[in-house]
Amino acid sequence: MRRSLGLRCAWVAILVAMLVACEPETFPTSHDSTPTITPRTFDAKVVIFVIDGPRYQDSFGDPLHAHVGDIWSQLRPFGTLCSNFRNQGWTLTIPGHSTMLTGVWQYLPNDGSQRPPNPTLFEYYRKATGAPATEAVLVGGKPKLAACAYSVDPAYGAAFGASVDVTATTDFATYDRLINRLDADHPHLVMASFSQVDQKAHSGNWSAYLRQMEIVDSLAVLTWNHLQADPEYAGQTYMFITADHGRHDDAHGGFQDHGDTCDGCTHVIFLALGPDIRADYDVTNLYTQRDVCTTVGLLLRVPTPQTNGFMMSEIFVPTSTGINH
Ligand SMILES: [Zn+2]
Ligand SMILES: [Zn+2]
Repeated sequence: MRRSLGLRCAWVAILVAMLVACEPETFPTSHDSTPTITPRTFDAKVVIFVIDGPRYQDSFGDPLHAHVGDIWSQLRPFGTLCSNFRNQGWTLTIPGHSTMLTGVWQYLPNDGSQRPPNPTLFEYYRKATGAPATEAVLVGGKPKLAACAYSVDPAYGAAFGASVDVTATTDFATYDRLINRLDADHPHLVMASFSQVDQKAHSGNWSAYLRQMEIVDSLAVLTWNHLQADPEYAGQTYMFITADHGRHDDAHGGFQDHGDTCDGCTHVIFLALGPDIRADYDVTNLYTQRDVCTTVGLLLRVPTPQTNGFMMSEIFVPTSTGINH
């Protein structure tokens, strides 16, 4: 009797193990259990709009939103804010951008001399779809950003990298190049990085820093409106407005520089816009830059096997056709 009970227990254990092994593939999420993707009725595209180095308290965290007034009045009502979005790695430009693209904290030198060891979203997208380089675009205003176009992973690399245009000397020029790329090739995956907020801040000129933020604020709205005026993008494009890092809070050196683990450096803006993004919603749970890779991969329906990030499930309408919760 004891023996047969033991045998039965062994069989139950084997069955449970088999059931666990046969569970459908799910994506990791920090805040709910089993999100899965179902077929979309549209051809999703993603634009990651990066403002280089705005301090949270001077931008989204300012109660008056004085220097991000256009985003606040024209985009924020239609999107989801993640008000506790963080860079928990190195709060520098290359580490911040490459972490968003790879879903792995990237402790890379900030001079662009090393490429990430893990594949970028550009590589994941192009390898999975066979899309040409014109479909995955990196536009920006710092030449060193070219290091983020592809990784040194031997299974991926240059053959699957982004089409790179990172030599714009002003944010206006970055915007101009971005729009030209959107119009010419209609890429599915774009990271556009606006560098001058960071550059004005490093110069120590407080009013120039704030004025530049107001300029990029306008460019973000213009970008979204441009997407919505193009039938290939309208209603099927996600735009994430975010940053690579913040800047020191006043207890840790103030707005001029960044790079440590103070609240000012780690607290990063994040606003999601798109067809099944919750409108006028604020997610207060912690999300990090690693989650960008996981979430964008899911939206573009390409696997991102090396990411350590989580799916940002809470930014989506719970009953949306794209994401089941
Ligand atoms: Zn930066
Ligand atoms: Zn700091």
